[in-house]
Amino acid sequence: AVQAKQVHKAFGDLHVLKGIDMTVEPGTVTVILGPSGSGKSTFLRLINQLETLTGGEIDVDGEMIGYKKLPDGQLQTLNDKEIARQRAKLGMVFQKFNLFPHMTALENVMEAPVHVQHMPKAQARELAIKELQRVGLGDRLDYYPAQLSGGQQQRVAIARALAMKPEIMLFDEPTSALDPELVGEVLNVMRSLADEGMTMIVVTHEIGFAKEVADQIVFMDGGVVVERGTPDIIDHPKEARFKDFLQHVL
Ligand code: ATP
Ligand code: MG
Repeated sequence: AVQAKQVHKAFGDLHVLKGIDMTVEPGTVTVILGPSGSGKSTFLRLINQLETLTGGEIDVDGEMIGYKKLPDGQLQTLNDKEIARQRAKLGMVFQKFNLFPHMTALENVMEAPVHVQHMPKAQARELAIKELQRVGLGDRLDYYPAQLSGGQQQRVAIARALAMKPEIMLFDEPTSALDPELVGEVLNVMRSLADEGMTMIVVTHEIGFAKEVADQIVFMDGGVVVERGTPDIIDHPKEARFKDFLQHVL
């Protein structure tokens, strides 16, 4: 599970997150909605320790991330090895795929298992083939990113994250950079991951996906959670800001 408790984040004077509470149970999908600048990416980046908190706490599997609580209640920053161990539980997929352009799909997916986990190449190759098949790209193993469509590249990026065997997948607007006709193939891969029981936190403006796949919807605005609930809050929003947002994205 992921548990955020009164999470705050400031960049200098800019107070971006102002006390976010969120619980994501194992095997569930949480969709985060919110206007531009509301702090959605910042929140995902905090979970993955790409940013550090300025207040509050995030627990993954019941363990505080980034810090150890000493017996006297003081917090001690974890060392790099401990942080790497915690981060290995999380896979992240961004709006921009960031594949290595000089490597094939297969080599992109093998890269981290070989160079981060020191997996033997033959084993990493088997794993990468399996993960690429899982995202429907078993016939594109030797293609370079430039030879793949945006949707295919994003599916390679998902396979690359899955190859590290994460417990939790974080998606930050994974379809926003895609041409409309390519969005569906990426959402289908995400839907099948959800069906397999993957724990997922997804920032997206794809309302149809949110309604169909999410267990929990969280609407953020101005660094706070304005409304949350089951997907039917999309059809029956209570808060004016959420109603307004939905009118703009639908
Ligand atoms: P979008 O929908 O446009 O992706 P978002 O909800 O993901 O928006 P964030 O990217 O989390 O929003 O940004 C929230 C605020 O924090 C913005 O005002 C942004 O400019 C600011 N911000 C984000 N990262 C940094 C940083 N490294 N330094 C300073 N300000 C930052
Ligand atoms: Mg963002």
